[in-house]
Amino acid sequence: MCSWIESTRMTINMACNQLGQTWFESGVSENAVSGHIQLIIPGESACFACAPPLIVASGIDEKTLKKDGVCAASLPTTMGVVAGFLVQNTLKKLLKFGEVSWYLGYSALTDFFPKMKLKPNPTCDDLDCVQRQQEFNAKPKEVDAAVDQGKEKQVVHEENKWGISLVDESVDTEETRTHVQLTEGVTLAYSLPATDTLSIVEDVPSGEVDESEQSLEDLARQLKSM
Ligand SMILES: [Zn+2]
Repeated sequence: MCSWIESTRMTINMACNQLGQTWFESGVSENAVSGHIQLIIPGESACFACAPPLIVASGIDEKTLKKDGVCAASLPTTMGVVAGFLVQNTLKKLLKFGEVSWYLGYSALTDFFPKMKLKPNPTCDDLDCVQRQQEFNAKPKEVDAAVDQGKEKQVVHEENKWGISLVDESVDTEETRTHVQLTEGVTLAYSLPATDTLSIVEDVPSGEVDESEQSLEDLARQLKSM
């Protein structure tokens, strides 16, 4: 379901709160330079009526973006990015893979992606939301299955006749760590070995013979004189 009209989203929100229906809400700001997606599980996370809509800081004066007679919301790239996040998270939720974002914002001007979980408002205007919250709080909390699934299973082979073992070939050299400045959450796929560990093989010109060795002609001469 996709709608840019707030009253439509409010109606869907009311219906979903009444039915206890999980849904994704998303939107792009009027200036078309920010947007968000939001997973709403009635009672567990904030509904559309729990709080005023969040605005991802654009970092510039919004007045400068508005132009008369131009529908800025038609800017397709921001919508494309937000729609991509929406579909990706819906797939993750439905097919049960990865980590589904509760709230993911997007600021196009600064490439800023705030992520958080919004708790429902106990004094929400929608009474069905408050009712779902009470039901959720009364439920015993399940062990987070996603956390268990996330743990990698250790592969154990009963037999290892040939003594094969996996060796980590990545060398975490001082060189790599000092030259590349990484931001939080980003790691290098592999590290490059320091240049002094590379051995250079020099080719010996084929015509030259080592001093200690005799040439073929010398050997032939020696053979004749015998
Ligand atoms: Zn609510």
